[in-house]
Amino acid sequence: MIIQLCGLSGAGKTTIARSVQRKAAASRLPIEIIDGDAYRESLCRDLGFSKEDRCENIRRLGFVASRLSDHGVICIISAINPYETVRRELKMKYAHVKTVHIDCSLDELITRDTKGLYKRALLSDNHPDKLNNLTGVNDPFEAPSHPDLHLRTDEHSITACTNTLYQFILQNIKHQEAKYSRAASI
Ligand code: ADP
Repeated sequence: MIIQLCGLSGAGKTTIARSVQRKAAASRLPIEIIDGDAYRESLCRDLGFSKEDRCENIRRLGFVASRLSDHGVICIISAINPYETVRRELKMKYAHVKTVHIDCSLDELITRDTKGLYKRALLSDNHPDKLNNLTGVNDPFEAPSHPDLHLRTDEHSITACTNTLYQFILQNIKHQEAKYSRAASI
């Protein structure tokens, strides 16, 4: 199974992915987090933040996830993943891909601003530290119209969001297993 998260910077993708991973580890359920920031320092080092590069970034993360997923590892792709076309592309290309929107209001993100990115994006245009491509401020984010799961981190606690995503994963594992055993008995 591949869980492709999407959501603005600071919405809680990494926090929830890690928390779900810890919870799953206690039940010996293998989860690999494919973290966009980490891969941008290795496999995706050549990519920038244009639409084309952001989409190519997701394609590469999707490929890595598909290889692991074929061996039973549950993969969580944790990246902003702002474009509907490439999210759909992953769903069409690989089996058992679920889209999970990690959603949070811009007001709350500006208050959190854990990495100082919103402050920089909101600087005046001629400021030398101005960030010009922050998703949700001055770069597009296409909210998924029909996500498989929608989590609002400005309304629910980290624990609640973790439990919801964890239960969602367990339900989908059961669903997959039932499908395989039906196919095997035909
Ligand atoms: P992202 O990976 O989406 O950029 P992070 O997980 O790095 O975001 O940061 C999210 C920040 O928001 C963390 O400081 C986290 O503690 C905080 N936070 C507050 N409420 C929640 C919640 N319900 N779910 C996830 N993170 C939350």
